[in-house]
This record gives sequence, C-alpha cells and structure tokens, in this order.
Amino acid sequence: MKRRSIIAANWKMNGNLSLVSDMVSGLNQLQLNENVEVVVCPSFPYLPAFSYAAQDENLQRMIQLGAQNVSEHQSGAYTGEVSTQMLQECGVKYVIIGHSERRNYYKETSTLIAHKVAKALESGLTPIICIGESEMERDSDQTNTVLSAQLQPVIDEIGIEKFADVVIAYEPVWAIGTGKTASPEMAQETHHFIRTFLADNQVDVAEKVPLLYGGSMNAANCEKLLAQADIDGGLIGGASLKVDEFKVICSAAK
Ligand code: PGA
Repeated sequence: MKRRSIIAANWKMNGNLSLVSDMVSGLNQLQLNENVEVVVCPSFPYLPAFSYAAQDENLQRMIQLGAQNVSEHQSGAYTGEVSTQMLQECGVKYVIIGHSERRNYYKETSTLIAHKVAKALESGLTPIICIGESEMERDSDQTNTVLSAQLQPVIDEIGIEKFADVVIAYEPVWAIGTGKTASPEMAQETHHFIRTFLADNQVDVAEKVPLLYGGSMNAANCEKLLAQADIDGGLIGGASLKVDEFKVICSAAK
C-alpha cells in the first residue's frame, strides 16, 4: 500500500509576512507528485495571511496550513492559548503536537500531549504527533523504550483505531537544529520500530500512518532519507525557512 507523503514546514518562532508571500509564490511553481502533500506551519499570527495568500484552488490542493501547537481546552479563561476552533477558522488542517521544544521548554507531558491529540481529532484537525529520544537516551540504548512511552499515553487516550487519522513525526532530539542528521539506515530502523509498535496494537492502522522524519533534514540529505521504506515524509525546521531549499525537499518526496 502506498501511504501519502507529507512534507511539513515547522517555522517555529521564525518568519514574517514577507516569508509568507515568498513561500506561497515559491510553492506555486512546484509540480508535485499527486501523492505528496505540503503542510506549512507558521506562527499563529501568520495563519490568516498564509491562508489568504494560498487561496488559489490549485495551491489549496497542494498546500495545507498547519499550526505549531493548540490548547487542550475548548474555550474559556486560558490566557495566551489558542483553541482548535480558532485554528479551523483560520483555515488550519494540521497541528503539530508534542514537539520536543514544547516537551522540554514548556514541560508538556505525554499525558497533556495525548489530551491535545484527542482535542484536535475531535474537531477534525490532523495531529502531527512528535516523538523522539535525547542523545543520552540513544547512547544508552533506550530509544525504543522512550518512543513507546511517548506513544502509549496517546494510544490509551484515543484508541489505536484513531491512529488512522494521525501523522507521527519521529524527531531525534539530538538531530534537531544541530546539523547532525540520523543516517538513513538509523532513521529507517527507528521508523520501522515505530510501525511495528503500532502494528502490535493494530496491523492495518500501522500500515496507514504516515511517519515523518525530522531533525536537520535538508536539500542535501532529503533524497536518501525519503527513499526509506518506512519514511513517508519530513518535518523540516531550519531548511523550511529557505524557499528554494524547501522546494527541493518537496520535490524529492514521491
Ligand atoms: P530542524 O528542525 O529541521 O531545524 O532540525 C526540525 C523540527 O524541529 O521540527
């Protein structure tokens, strides 16, 4: 079965209105394989501008809008938070949940992340759930244990069947923004572990879930990473801020 390929841009707290328009016009020139979907996740304030700039019908088929975070609450007295409904009103279809920067700097736990995933699914947004081990955890052979422990609360919260509607991004923390990429073989081995872990719960669902690799993916290394059997796309940080480089990565997806 051919799974859909997703190339997602995680701008983090970078970018501005001119990157929004440059990115939209840059992506407009791309001829992508019809199995490939591009998701751009700018900061909250730029979501409406991106949605407006990308309203052309052809572009809408190709580029989806994503957010970098969402509240687990519906509405109410939660200063600084943004709800799923607000995102949807801005044209958002995807939301990154549980990025390692949220886990580490904002102390988001796997339980909170599971609540956010449930909230996103309830309202029809597709969560891009991020998981990944630290360098110390990899060096001490704990990678698989850590990844399972990050996924299990989500399985417990939403049930394995709902994984048919999620995307998982495997991002080794030591590879994020460091220029140190996992080798294609190492990334494939870990992606395969994740798929097998899901398959132990439900084989059909595991076959459907797009698994993205993230961590210093760039124009030079994307082709080999994306050619791996269990790598269905990428979550790109730094390289997604350069329109030409991001276009190369989008074009490498099959
Ligand atoms: P990077 O970031 O591509 O800059 O390593 C990836 C991410 O954090 O999603």
